[in-house]
Amino acid sequence: MSSEAMTTLDSTVPRLQEVFFAAEPALTKLDEITGDGDFGVNLREGLSEVAGRLAAPDSPAPWDTLRAVFLDEVGGTSGPLFGLLFQSLDTRAARSDSYIDALQAGISDGLAAIQRVGEAEVGDRTMVDALAPAVEALHAGDVGAMVSAAVDGALSTAALRARRGRASYLGERAVGHPDPGAVGVALLLCVLAEPVSGTEASDRERARLLDAVSGSTSGND
Ligand code: ADP
Ligand code: MG
Repeated sequence: MSSEAMTTLDSTVPRLQEVFFAAEPALTKLDEITGDGDFGVNLREGLSEVAGRLAAPDSPAPWDTLRAVFLDEVGGTSGPLFGLLFQSLDTRAARSDSYIDALQAGISDGLAAIQRVGEAEVGDRTMVDALAPAVEALHAGDVGAMVSAAVDGALSTAALRARRGRASYLGERAVGHPDPGAVGVALLLCVLAEPVSGTEASDRERARLLDAVSGSTSGND
């Protein structure tokens, strides 16, 4: 039988698809300026593949499917890194009674796995800049603070020069624009917070993030 934490985690999947499909053009534009332009498409194709598999008659477990698709099928650097985060959340939700415990342990394990593989530190202008402050804020069990910390962390990358990944070759071009992976992680955490803190608080933080992203890219059409 599925744990209550897993049932709650599973309930976020349709929302995750909705939020990322809506944000895809903004994420693509951001990665066109700061990377190679594939970030939003990679995410969208991964989530479409997940939706296809979940619609099958034998309907596999949602988070195990997210893990498998992102670890094995999604391209770019970020695909497998998201896969590691999904894997940690899936594993912890299966073992936790409470959803907040699963979030705390899963996001913290996910950060550790991403840093083990990608070797990025805070300040390198990657998704770690959104995840690390979120883990820190969630230690106190405050999901709203986790979301704000992730959004602040993602926005703080606009001032950073990339030292990891493809964006490191672009140097100054990315400065002034948030890192796409950090924005993607902050969007994910907005969605994961919804079962605890409601949609209104998450919508507000998501709008704060996406408004800043479109503000930074609006002159680059
Ligand atoms: P690629 O750079 O291969 O095109 P994507 O576009 O899929 O990859 O993803 C780019 C994102 O991946 C970046 O915005 C950054 O957040 C993240 N990233 C890149 N390298 C690392 C790393 N070593 N550790 C953590 N995140 C990374
Ligand atoms: Mg890219």
